[in-house]
Formats: sequence, C-alpha cells, structure tokens
Amino acid sequence: MPTAIYPGTFDPITYGHIDIAVRASKVFKRVIAVVAVNQSKSPLFTPGERVDMAREALKDLPRIEVIGYSGLIVSCVKEYGASAIIRGLRAMSDFDYEFQMAYTNRNMLESAETVFFMPSAEYTYLNSTLVKQIARHGGDIGAFVPDVVKRRLLEKM
Ligand code: ADP
Repeated sequence: MPTAIYPGTFDPITYGHIDIAVRASKVFKRVIAVVAVNQSKSPLFTPGERVDMAREALKDLPRIEVIGYSGLIVSCVKEYGASAIIRGLRAMSDFDYEFQMAYTNRNMLESAETVFFMPSAEYTYLNSTLVKQIARHGGDIGAFVPDVVKRRLLEKM
C-alpha cells in the first residue's frame, strides 16, 4: 500500500511512537509522521523541536518521514494523497478517543481510513506525559525514549 500519515502530538516522541511507525512501515511504502500543532494539549516542546527530535529518532528508517502540520488531519491526507491514517492502540482507555477521531475524520472525508496498530507489550503503558513527569523528577527515562529526546528533555527541565 502506498502512503499513510501518522498524526500525533509527539511531545516528545517515545519508543512507543517509534514502535507503531516501524510496524506501519512494514505495511505501507511511505509513512509520514505528522507532528500536529495541538494547542489544547499545551505541549512542552515547540512544533519545531518536536519535528527535529522525531526526525533524528527516525532517521535510519528510510520509509518514514517527519513533517509539521497545522491544519486538519483530513487536509493532510488529501495533500499527501494518503490512503490511511495510522494510530496506535494501547489499552481500552484509548478506544473512546480514537473511535471518536476515526469517525469524525471519516465523516469529513469518506476515504480517510484509520488503521490501528498495537505496540509491543512493553510499550503498552508508555506515554509522553509519563516520560515528562519522570524526567521532571530526575528519573531515568533511557528505557522510554531515544538519546536525542533524553538530551533535549534534560536541557528543557
Ligand atoms: P495525540 O495527541 O494525537 O494523541 P500522541 O503523540 O499522544 O498524539 O499519540 C499519537 C499516536 O501514537 C496515538 O495514536 C497514540 O495512541 C499513539 N501512541 C502514543 N504512545 C504510544 C505507545 N506507547 N504505544 C503505542 N501507541 C502509542
């Protein structure tokens, strides 16, 4: 299958995000990780910082690109001629939000198919918020994020 977009806040990118991107790249020829400018989440990092970290973290994976995007996901789908929107599904707690988003995107663009991937079990409970909390309290985040993110988080804190 040709192109898929993988939207998210990526504040910052974790091994859980990377796990999903890698799985998607085995099914789709081109995966575009789309760093969304998401005001409601008040991200710690600027869009530019989030894009830089994601690019560095994914640089050895030739089928995966990273872009920043401030519009609607469905506009991005159209712009890049994508055939799918990739999302990660961890626990049941993700379902409500993800279903709402998938149906809303489909209502806006009938061809926007959302495809869910499950991460490796070790990343099921990993999210960016937890990583930031651990980093804030001086904990070791080496098991959760690549070196580039670890460095940038330490600088930020
Ligand atoms: P958003 O604000 O759009 O939810 P996130 O960066 O939090 O952005 O997440 C982007 C996507 O990556 C979501 O589909 C989310 O479920 C998925 N994701 C985040 N962390 C993990 C993880 N540890 N394992 C699998 N998927 C994940």
